This record gives sequence, structure tokens and C-alpha cells, in this order.
Amino acid sequence: MSLRAPEDPGDNTPIITANGYHESIYPTCAALAARVNNFLETEAPTSLLKAVQEQIRTALGVIGSALERYSLDEISLSYNGGKDCLVLLILLLCALAKYKKDALPKALHTVYIISKHPFAEVGAFVDESSATYKLDLVRYAMPMKEAFRTYLEEHKKIKAILVGTRRTDPHGENLTHFDETDSGWPAFMRVHPVIDWHYAEIWAFIRHFEIPYCSLYDQGYTSLGGTTDTHPNPALKAQENKENSHQTFRPAYELVEDDAERLGRDW
Ligand code: ATP
Repeated sequence: MSLRAPEDPGDNTPIITANGYHESIYPTCAALAARVNNFLETEAPTSLLKAVQEQIRTALGVIGSALERYSLDEISLSYNGGKDCLVLLILLLCALAKYKKDALPKALHTVYIISKHPFAEVGAFVDESSATYKLDLVRYAMPMKEAFRTYLEEHKKIKAILVGTRRTDPHGENLTHFDETDSGWPAFMRVHPVIDWHYAEIWAFIRHFEIPYCSLYDQGYTSLGGTTDTHPNPALKAQENKENSHQTFRPAYELVEDDAERLGRDW
């Protein structure tokens, strides 16, 4: 059974289904786009937020080009609940607000490769955010290359995948906004709208828009891998509390330097 939401009169409006989800992603897109556009139209109070405005404009430009080059059923997002793809997801949803409601899919194509040793917190956040943002999330527990090969075999229309890689990530150094996959990899176009965002800009965006994020970031993790190769970032060690010898860490958003981001990762 499905019910029409009372605040959404008229034809072609979102529907609330028995499980409580809107059938359309349009309301989410429109609400996010309104907030982001409002931010872009106002004078930013700090130089960091000014830089974030510029980064948003660039990223929306890249996403816009991707949406011109590929149809919605040809585009997917590589999503693992991390902060960088979270920003990318929000911007993608904003960009989709320009579509007519009935041109939008009910859920966004997304692909998640589960780590060999996953954090429960990451799994929980991926579940929560998939429900919030209406992701059509396909999960694979297998090596990355095999997972993408399987995903493309099972989703034959997908030609381009948005990825939240940034310049300071491993293999990020020479990427551009659009890069075909390297030889030996399943063929698709990788789109990198946030490639030149700095670490501090990612957090400024998330905190300015009060976007919920994975709880591990509040425990000093600054980049999320698996439980065996990821630990809180030593640069965020809090002052030791003498009554309690347990070491605590400051939240990820307190780190500033790009170079220190991966000090909590073993690779
Ligand atoms: P963080 O660095 O805090 O973990 P992140 O996961 O968004 O944030 P990276 O780990 O640097 O960023 O990974 C870069 C991008 O590669 C991600 O934003 C995402 O698009 C893609 N990606 C990485 N790992 C996975 C995965 N296991 N499943 C799906 N996509 C992934």
C-alpha cells in the first residue's frame, strides 16, 4: 500500500510507501540544492568557507558535465560511507534537483565494496545513509577489481562511476576530473568531482551543512579502511587524563593538514 503525503498535493508528487520511504529522490535533492544554493549566494564568513564555495562550484560543474555526457541510468557512485564520497553524494543529489521529478530514478545507483575486516560503525553508517539518501546500493565482499567487474556485468548500462578520490589519496596525484580506468581494470569512466578538495574543506562542508557522518570520525579516525589497518590518527591524541589512563582522540575535523590525514592508516 502507498499513501500520498498530505503536504505534497498534486500529480507527480512524492509518495510515501508502507516502509516510510519516499518513492522519489526529488524531495531530498530539492532540499539539499536549496541549502547549497543559498550558501553559494551568501558572503562566506571565513576564508575556509569561501574556499568551500569555490570547490562546490567546481564540483557541481564536473557533475553537470557528467550528467550531460551520460544519462542517469549510465551513472553510478562508488560509496563506502567515507567523508569524501559523502560530500560527493550530497553534491550529486544537489545537481539532480534540476531534473523534472518524473525524470529521476527512485534510488541512486551506488556500489559499495565491503572491506575484508569491516568496522561495524561503517556498516551501520552505510545502512543509515543509504536509507536517508535513497541509494540503490549494491554490496560486494570481494577484491575491488573483481567487484567492479561483477557490478558492470550485473549493471550493463553503467558507463561512468563517480569516485570521491582526492589529490592526496594514494594514486590521486595525476588524476583529472574524467579518467578512463587503467588497463587491466574493468572499463568505465571514473569521474572525480572532489579531486582538488583539501581535507579541511571536506570537513568544513560536512559541518557547515550539518551532514550526519560515520561515528568513527568523532573517535579520531581520519580515513576509514578495515579494522586491521586503520586506527585513530596519532596527530589527534588528546591530552592524557591522569584519572583515566585510556588514550582518547580528538575528532577528525580538528585535523587541518592534508598530509596528516593518513597517519591512521597502515597503507
Ligand atoms: P576516507 O578517506 O575518510 O576513508 P573516503 O572513503 O570517501 O573517505 P577514500 O578512502 O580516500 O575516501 O577513497 C576514495 C574514494 O574511493 C571514496 O570516496 C569512494 O568513492 C571510493 N571508494 C574507496 N573505497 C571504497 C569501497 N570500499 N567501496 C566503494 N567505494 C570506495
